[in-house]
Amino acid sequence: MFNLILFGPPGSGKGTQSEKLISTYGFKHLSTGDLLRSEIKNQTKLGLEAKSFMDNGQLVPDAVVIGMVDAAIGANKGVNGFLFDGFPRTKAQAIALDELLGTHDTSINLVLALDVPEDELVVRMIKRAKTSGRSDDADENVQKNRIAVYKNETLAVAEHYATFDKVITLNGLGDIDVIFASLCAEIDARA
Ligand code: AMP
Repeated sequence: MFNLILFGPPGSGKGTQSEKLISTYGFKHLSTGDLLRSEIKNQTKLGLEAKSFMDNGQLVPDAVVIGMVDAAIGANKGVNGFLFDGFPRTKAQAIALDELLGTHDTSINLVLALDVPEDELVVRMIKRAKTSGRSDDADENVQKNRIAVYKNETLAVAEHYATFDKVITLNGLGDIDVIFASLCAEIDARA
């Protein structure tokens, strides 16, 4: 099993690159943002709880997200590997993920971090807002919150995995296919 975390700030291209990676490598895509949006769409209790956090650009509480990932991992036994996208977003989530994978006798093999300058992130989120219908992309204050949360809470995830020498940082600016090729080269060197 090969488990990958695609890491980066909001707007760094994780969703776009994830789609390409899952179709090439057959990973099971596990995007906590997508799972949460589906809970909201289905008007579940969890979705209703999560919505106000998401609309404000804040993180949904760790226990909620970890429970969701636990269930998703349990429901996908026998896959070749997971691609975690938008998770973990706090050090507590990273530690919980390591423990969860440990109970399935597996672990994170690689963290690929997309590096994109902050002004470009804002440009991309504004562009995405026009087509995604995502309310958290459209508002400038929410975008600022999401970037601040990334710096204050999520960067610690990369630090956590860097202590195990698992992080590779790649340029996330430029042509989508060139970025994709650089991600593939890192996976191919290890898988
Ligand atoms: P994303 O689609 O990954 O950009 O996530 C959209 C929103 O969902 C985030 O701004 C958070 O409010 C929430 N969210 C997604 N993943 C997580 C996570 N791992 N931990 C906490 N909140 C999350």
